[in-house]
Amino acid sequence: MSLTGRGGRYLIVKLAALGDVVMASTLVGAIRAREPAAHVTWLCGAGVAPLVRLFDGVDEVLVVDEVALMRGRPAARLRALFTLWWTLASRRFDVTLLGHADRRYRAALGVARLGQVRALRPREPGRTLPIPDRYFGDEYARLLDVERSRGPITGHAALASLRVPLPQPPASDRIGVVLVPGGTRNVLRESALRRWPVERYAEVAAALRRADRRVTLVGDAGDDWVRPHFAGLDVRDEIGAQSIAGTLNLMAHADLVITHDTGPLHLAGLVRAPVLALFGPTTPAQFLPRHPGAEAIWGGGDLACRPCYDGREFAACTSNLCMQDIPVETVMRRALARLGTADPARGAPAAIFQP
Ligand code: SF4
Repeated sequence: MSLTGRGGRYLIVKLAALGDVVMASTLVGAIRAREPAAHVTWLCGAGVAPLVRLFDGVDEVLVVDEVALMRGRPAARLRALFTLWWTLASRRFDVTLLGHADRRYRAALGVARLGQVRALRPREPGRTLPIPDRYFGDEYARLLDVERSRGPITGHAALASLRVPLPQPPASDRIGVVLVPGGTRNVLRESALRRWPVERYAEVAAALRRADRRVTLVGDAGDDWVRPHFAGLDVRDEIGAQSIAGTLNLMAHADLVITHDTGPLHLAGLVRAPVLALFGPTTPAQFLPRHPGAEAIWGGGDLACRPCYDGREFAACTSNLCMQDIPVETVMRRALARLGTADPARGAPAAIFQP
């Protein structure tokens, strides 16, 4: 049902991080399904702007300096705020969909003409959003109809399509299995508890090479620290070398992507790449992309502390036994089983295994 009764002006506010922005992209299709003629503006941080510009159905992208806004010194924060207010001052929206629960994001929008504002409400009886253990992409889409969505709700909300088709890499440019050993960082913090030990990724890389599989490492410039762990291994190193579009292209043409719960997992979901995702403190139900060919191994089944992510914070844990509970042998067994399939992306629907 339309919220504006016409082709209204929608503002999506989701500044970061990569994975959250991908999951929030379900809003674009959900808006268009209700109001095909709607005008959709997305306010995002500079770090994810190149990704949002790729989303089909977004008419306008507004960029804010999210680092200055959230972490800057008072003067830098004020400058970012004034720039944001100046940008919004000439615009008027009918509906604003705020993909953040933290009230500081609403406050940062000041007195902009936002129309009806709908925001995540993690703890509001009868309207809790997101409901724990539901796929977050579906929960972002529910911002449009939280009052009415009593169920059943069939199917999953689709992630945004890409505006331009990704180019086909040359035949000689084989990518093989993509490994994502770093990540789990955003502008506000680093969540190392979500990482599978980098030494185990190196063991997987060596085992894949012995099985005559090509291996490509993916990550951003901040993942430099993983490089020494792969020294001497015959792997293609794309760490810090690819744009977001380039990373999407690598994922799209990979035989399999092996990663823990970090931004590139969701980039793989966006291009429907075959994925083997390794989970511990967060739940696959909430964060595993919902496409055929996505599967998770969830470590730490015997731990009373799992999951420990409450939507904002992790436990003050000093050793992520949940992730360490996933053996290399289990990952290799699943990887080789997936690689033996003619087209892993056509495998069973999203599945969750315990090691
Ligand atoms: S508290 Fe438990 S679930 Fe959380 S990271 Fe530590 S071992 Fe994993």
